[in-house]
Amino acid sequence: MVKVGALRRINPELMSFIFTAMSKGTPAEGAVLSVLMIPVTFYCYDCGRTNTREDTQFLCPSCGSRNVQLLSGLEFNIEVLEVEANEQ
Ligand SMILES: [Zn+2]
Repeated sequence: MVKVGALRRINPELMSFIFTAMSKGTPAEGAVLSVLMIPVTFYCYDCGRTNTREDTQFLCPSCGSRNVQLLSGLEFNIEVLEVEANEQ
């Protein structure tokens, strides 16, 4: 599983398609890539709230302040790698 922050602007379907294409002829052929999108969350220094945004604007949705700290949304982690050995 790959965790991708929403700010990476990556299309999960496109990523799976590229993975399938690139894994052909390699031991990873036939593997399934699952992509988990991580929402963009901010901490607002002005109102003290932690908010999640669907879009990628650096504004507090509660008070509109720009005085925010990005908490998540830039991830690009391989979370789980499952490998099945072929039985000979
Ligand atoms: Zn705020």
